[in-house]
Amino acid sequence: MRVFKIFKQGVVYHKRDYFTRTDVVVKKQQGIAKPGDWKLYIDRCTTGQRLASKFIRHLQTNHNFYQYKVRFVKPIEAIIDEWSSVTAIVARFLKFKLGKDEALLIEERLHGKFVTFVTNCGSGNNRDIAVLSAFAHFTYHESGGELVFCNLQGVEDQDVFTLTNPAIHSKDGTYGDTDLGSEGIDVFFQHHVCTALCINLSRPDDDSTGPISNQEPPPPYEELFPDGPPPVP
Ligand SMILES: [Zn+2]
Repeated sequence: MRVFKIFKQGVVYHKRDYFTRTDVVVKKQQGIAKPGDWKLYIDRCTTGQRLASKFIRHLQTNHNFYQYKVRFVKPIEAIIDEWSSVTAIVARFLKFKLGKDEALLIEERLHGKFVTFVTNCGSGNNRDIAVLSAFAHFTYHESGGELVFCNLQGVEDQDVFTLTNPAIHSKDGTYGDTDLGSEGIDVFFQHHVCTALCINLSRPDDDSTGPISNQEPPPPYEELFPDGPPPVP
């Protein structure tokens, strides 16, 4: 995926519920994207949403955590029939090219402070990072070791994390330029520190379950979640 920039903002009217009057951003790739060029971006968000739903159930069932939600945006590709003359002038001024039948991406605009909670090799010891770092680990477990989600970025509002444009490192390296394959998975686990939220999640470097002896001790559960319920044994 080439670098893209946020191109426009606005409100979309669409017959489907999700985009009805949704406040959106329009993203443009650096070059002229063809129809289908956003597929991997969309796939990463779709796969993320599927795994996020399972992760929420995992938190509820295994950790008695009900307050956290993780969700991904649902971007769609839009093919441009015709550019308005105003846009053409703006594009000339900003020196980027507009293509005929160019594919752009439309996704909901995230409100609030935009944060990268988990980097490509994330670990951390605050509450937000602990939840999303556990989600990254969960994606490895849930996929049977085929992939791990990284670059978890977006906004948090009242314990609801809304994420966009994640990276996926997969064994067969099929998720685009940011997919660093098995090496990316290894690097993630070299940096990731398991917390109590990772209990019973499999790791590539051992056959057992549960928190791993890492160089750094995992942060105590109470430190991460002083107000949270105790973990279910
Ligand atoms: Zn972990």
